[in-house]
Amino acid sequence: MPRMSALDSALHQLSEAARRLGLDEGTHSLLATPRRSLSVAVPLRRDDGTLQVLQGYRVQHNLSRGPAKGGVRFHPDTDLAEVRALAMWMTWKCALLGIPYGGAKGGVAVDPRLLSRTELERVTRRYAGEIMPIIGPEKDIPAPDIGTDEQTMAWMMDTVSAHTGYTVPGVVTGKPVVIGGSLGRAGATSRGVLHATFSALHQAGIDHRGATVAVQGFGKVGGLAAQYLHDAGCVVVAVSDVKGGVHRGRGIDPAALLAQLRAGAESIVDVPGTEAISNEELLHLDVDVLVPAAMEGVLHEGNAAGVRARFVVEGANGPTTPDGDAVLEDKGVVVVPDILANAGGVVVSYFEWVQALQAWFWSEDEVGQRLQQLMDRAYDEVSTTAAEHGISLRSAAHMIAVGRVAHAHRIRGLYP
Ligand code: NAD
Repeated sequence: MPRMSALDSALHQLSEAARRLGLDEGTHSLLATPRRSLSVAVPLRRDDGTLQVLQGYRVQHNLSRGPAKGGVRFHPDTDLAEVRALAMWMTWKCALLGIPYGGAKGGVAVDPRLLSRTELERVTRRYAGEIMPIIGPEKDIPAPDIGTDEQTMAWMMDTVSAHTGYTVPGVVTGKPVVIGGSLGRAGATSRGVLHATFSALHQAGIDHRGATVAVQGFGKVGGLAAQYLHDAGCVVVAVSDVKGGVHRGRGIDPAALLAQLRAGAESIVDVPGTEAISNEELLHLDVDVLVPAAMEGVLHEGNAAGVRARFVVEGANGPTTPDGDAVLEDKGVVVVPDILANAGGVVVSYFEWVQALQAWFWSEDEVGQRLQQLMDRAYDEVSTTAAEHGISLRSAAHMIAVGRVAHAHRIRGLYP
């Protein structure tokens, strides 16, 4: 049976929330439809002189609560349908956390690992130039996602600024601190994953110290989530990247692996003193907490029954399909949904945008405290709603978020 796509998953979750909220068909269909979808050609002059034409996208799903916000992904499988799903999830995430944005996402279908640095810069600048008509501090603010980083954001900001004639720091977030980025942004998504994990464990009366954790994906989100959880006393027994994973029952020190990557290693596989495991095996380890922090759709009907973790904390966007979700719910696994668990990134992106607009910068402690406040408040709202309605944390999170966006639509009314 074909796996559910990210867009099918997102539309299914919306339908469920719309049904619970009793939304009329028109409002449901408004929320299911992206406000704007832009497809662009991104011609790239390769270093060898040949020309290659890549496909790029920017989708603004909803603008009813504020400007659009969402990452830019460079990945070979990126397509319009995936970007639409990711943009919709951004709308719900911002609404759930109570930050004044709508949702957007962008991407280029390219494997950045196959490009030189100069080629990557040319792709980024051309893509930024192509989507420039619809982005801006008051319109739509991109940020990093899979395959992009703070350097990508610096190039995007510089491209927009060069066209505008002055520096426009508020056009992207996730920039380097030296050009107006926020302290605490780099690790914000992972910090948020830690807060969400602690909320879930503590609510179940479990001490996080000594809790065992497996993390799939050792990139910007998974790598630092593993490190922060380890530093806080959890035992990180397994981590993986696209090439495979490593496992050690008494725990792995993620800082050593991060140092290995910073020193130029391509992968975290082959760590002395650990045993190799596959990404699929990692999902089935007997741990307290499983953090999928790589791609969407990795937990599905075909493998969810084998999950032995008590908690799944979704660092990635859309790692569990709705049919996988149903299996996990039947097994009593608590899933802390993506739009809550990985919201730390967009929260601190919001803080970065606020700081850039005011040209007034906060200390790292202030950023960290405000992040924790917003994450803890959202977790409380979601778990209270889940308990009141006897539904999963995911259903509760979507009910709250979709309800807020529908409310904004009702109040604003329809033009003309
Ligand atoms: P990244 O590119 O920095 O890292 C991705 C990691 O996943 C890498 O370790 C890569 O090797 C691994 N990976 C890729 N394909 C894989 C596969 N098929 N199986 C196993 N591992 C695989 O990306 P990131 O920014 O860490 O994003 C990871 C996830 O978190 C994505 O779903 C993204 O949308 C989501 N997310 C990111 C942010 C952010 O601030 N960067 C915020 C919220 C959500």
